[in-house]
Amino acid sequence: MPVEEVFIGIGGNMGDSSNIVIQAIDCLTKLTNTRMKAQSSLYLSEPVSEIPQNDYVNAVVLVETSLQPLELLLELQAIEHAFYRYRDPNLKWAPRTLDLDIILFGSRSLNDSHLKIPHPEMQNRLFVLEPLFEISGDLYIPGLGSLKYLIDKAPAIEINALSTISNSADRK
Ligand code: ADP
Ligand code: MG
Repeated sequence: MPVEEVFIGIGGNMGDSSNIVIQAIDCLTKLTNTRMKAQSSLYLSEPVSEIPQNDYVNAVVLVETSLQPLELLLELQAIEHAFYRYRDPNLKWAPRTLDLDIILFGSRSLNDSHLKIPHPEMQNRLFVLEPLFEISGDLYIPGLGSLKYLIDKAPAIEINALSTISNSADRK
């Protein structure tokens, strides 16, 4: 079966976000027809929203999968639901326990009503670009440019790498 390399963005800011992101990565390693290839550190980033809310914990992973894009999206939504993701249809960028986004799916582009690839906001989100750079610094995204270029021109936000080990240990 043909496999594709897929980058998945992970974020959350409700509950014990570091733990939730770590558990979500564990769920992704167990996905059917999918193999984990790389995972970034966890990052703490300030929210991009009018709504006052906690900082986000973010990460990006690289998997290899033979799932089709919409099949993968359904798997990601099932994981979000497992962490009690609730979507308020009236609130954009509302706080959430867990958000899983497909950032890049091989070199495919898709403009389905349920799935846009590359993720249409990736170039505006330093909390995606920084962890992506950590695991795949020399990426070039057709139509958008090099990852380095995107990082240089993305809107500035406060974002810092967290040490996964000390962070999860702190919370015990
Ligand atoms: P956001 O991630 O932009 O903060 P949501 O997680 O609430 O917002 O996503 C809302 C919808 O976005 C989902 O129901 C999904 O169908 C759609 N969507 C479109 N493209 C993507 C993508 N590349 N990855 C994940 N979801 C996507
Ligand atoms: Mg999402």
